[in-house]
Amino acid sequence: MASPRAGVPRPPPTGTLLIRDISHLATQNDELGEISDAAIFIRGNVIEWVGKMADLPPELSTSADRVIDGKGHVFLPGLVNTHAHMFQALNRCMAQDQLLYGWLKTLYPVWAQHTASSVFVSTVVSMSELLLSGCTTSSDHLYMYPHDVKLDDTIRAARALGLRFHPVRGGMSAGVSRGGIAPDSVVEDEGAILEDMERCITEFHDNSRLSMLRLALGPASQKTVTNELMISAARLARRHPGVRLHTHLAENQEDIEYTERLYGYRFGSYISAVEWDKCDCWFAHCVKLNESERALFSERGIGVAHCPSSNTRLASGIAPVRAMLDQGVNVGLGVDGACSSDAQSLLAEARLALLLQRAGGDPKGLGVREALRMATRGGATNLGRQGELGQIAPGFGADVVGFKFQGKLAFAGTVADPVAALLLCAPDSGPVHWSIIDGHVVVREGVLLAADGNRWARETVAAAAAAEVVVEGGEGGAAAAAAEVEKVEGGGEAEGREEVPLDLAALLAAAERHSRALVAGVSEAALGRR
Ligand SMILES: [Zn+2]
Repeated sequence: MASPRAGVPRPPPTGTLLIRDISHLATQNDELGEISDAAIFIRGNVIEWVGKMADLPPELSTSADRVIDGKGHVFLPGLVNTHAHMFQALNRCMAQDQLLYGWLKTLYPVWAQHTASSVFVSTVVSMSELLLSGCTTSSDHLYMYPHDVKLDDTIRAARALGLRFHPVRGGMSAGVSRGGIAPDSVVEDEGAILEDMERCITEFHDNSRLSMLRLALGPASQKTVTNELMISAARLARRHPGVRLHTHLAENQEDIEYTERLYGYRFGSYISAVEWDKCDCWFAHCVKLNESERALFSERGIGVAHCPSSNTRLASGIAPVRAMLDQGVNVGLGVDGACSSDAQSLLAEARLALLLQRAGGDPKGLGVREALRMATRGGATNLGRQGELGQIAPGFGADVVGFKFQGKLAFAGTVADPVAALLLCAPDSGPVHWSIIDGHVVVREGVLLAADGNRWARETVAAAAAAEVVVEGGEGGAAAAAAEVEKVEGGGEAEGREEVPLDLAALLAAAERHSRALVAGVSEAALGRR
């Protein structure tokens, strides 16, 4: 039975959409390549026709229910994010100068304050940033479940915004007393974790073609769970077609030392021992994979989610992406949690990935097209969607994004290669101009729309009022919440309308309120300012 707490799935549209006069189209499809003066015709949630504008059949040109002008734009397949922790978006700029393990130990007590409401708001913040930077499909690894938090809260956020979603039911079971690094107070019982994993699969996993939601299972890391949980999760996932496995691996030198000290072996042996050495697995980071481990990944079809901002912010190192690609490993990108990156822009990750592979002295360390391929097809493959998403070609899902370069200072003088400009020019060149997901317009001329007509905002405000969250140094929670109710645009009448802008003011007010509540009682030293 569907959980009302997780919101309502949005059916695909029934009409047709034509994007015409596209200046530059990078299809990411091997046959179609890049096309100038192009058009895309979408029927429902499927791409039906792609090609030169001059070749567009007259019946498609005249029959579209909706037309978007692609002049002055670069269009791409929607970007695919394969590693994130959206519950972390309310704790940015903390623990600024620590390595991974110290950073985690600082933040576990903060995250332990989360409630269903704060996780929901944090997830909406993270997803909004992702959508506005051109992401159309994202995974999210939720591995802490304090208070009343459930995976359902993140699913509700994805449905409220119209994002194609691959939530990962994570978990931590081995606290300090069992050799892990997290406090015992924040870990769950292994039986309860497995039971909730099964519940989430039963309630939410949809393995149909062009599904808007597929589940993955993800015990948090070898430093927070037992091998038994890893094995049980793998066996559970494999009883359900399309349920994949995801976790952290080989993130930094601390990880190497921890794994060798506790288990006496390296990552390659570890994933084989816990049965996570199959093609239904993808791992975040993999900064410290050696040559034979990369060969294992390549041979088995195991994917990597490369997270360059997080790896540099936490001084974890530079992942050997060039070597991975040369050895045939599939690499996608991940923004990681918003308090280790501390942003949620896939385009920025693609840019940094490119720059880091060149920083050692090789000008061909990573090409623009390779980085864009990682952000699209690489991500789709990590999520098991390689035949459905990540390319603009007939039969693929209607997930496309358009970046406007005409009229923008950051893109002045880029006539030589507007596609390359997306990565080589200023990283803050503004939001994506158009984003279409499953055939629905989700970003219109740079404005993020609320797929559920901002019903999320009204419910969040009501929940905050009920909880009487106190705004530090401001109005009482109930009074502030009541004021916010007034501001929610459109009220009940807007529900379900595609064209309602996301209520950003309500989102930012809720984010600030929850952010203050999460860090209340945290010391200045832990905040990490210096
Ligand atoms: Zn992570």
